[in-house]
Amino acid sequence: MSGKLIIISAPSGCGKSTIIHDITERGNVAMTFSVSATNRKPREGEIDGVHYYFLSTSDFNDRIAAGDFLEYEEVYPGRFYGTLKSEINRSLEAGKNIVLDIDVKGGINIKRIYGEKAISIFIQPPSVEALRSRLENRGTESEDVINERISRAEFELSFAPQFDVTVVNDDLSAAVDRTEQIIVDFIGR
Ligand code: ADP
Ligand code: 5GP
Repeated sequence: MSGKLIIISAPSGCGKSTIIHDITERGNVAMTFSVSATNRKPREGEIDGVHYYFLSTSDFNDRIAAGDFLEYEEVYPGRFYGTLKSEINRSLEAGKNIVLDIDVKGGINIKRIYGEKAISIFIQPPSVEALRSRLENRGTESEDVINERISRAEFELSFAPQFDVTVVNDDLSAAVDRTEQIIVDFIGR
């Protein structure tokens, strides 16, 4: 039996990583995290091969040329992120369910490729103002980068209707409960 794909998309700062982390910690659903490749620099505490495969820009371009990506996007100017075919195929063939933390366009693309084998979940912030204050509190980006992410977020929020389901991340534990339930229902289907 092959595994299924769980796509979690949202603008930056909406809580994707936190929700995926909390569901994994609870341990009620068996799912493997799809480690993406990126040419951005690691943040404090991020580990190569765990959070991302951190590649140089030239290595990233070589992997594009070699056809190694299922999809990739220039999510921010000059900053590329992509899902490796090897990462997904290895897990699916082993019958594992795989969870992807991926930008909105990438999420729509993967859903299009995998159809019923995938569920696409859009995480929505309670408001754009709440999103800004979360990014400020996270403290991992400069003011300029936060502004860039907010303007992209406004655009990305308009894609929510193209997803199978939307979860509003207002109260975190309620959002984790709801997302976990959606995944359990999908896997059991
Ligand atoms: P993403 O992975 O979508 O970029 P994160 O999971 O890193 O977002 O969340 C962004 C910031 O918002 C983090 O500092 C996180 O702790 C915080 N956060 C996440 N969900 C909530 C919530 N429901 N209420 C308040 N803060 C939240
Ligand atoms: P961050 O720099 O905050 O880790 O991620 C920035 C954005 O890139 C997030 O929206 C994240 O979901 C997205 N992202 C991460 N991996 C991939 C990927 O493999 N493909 C695409 N299209 N987006 C990704």
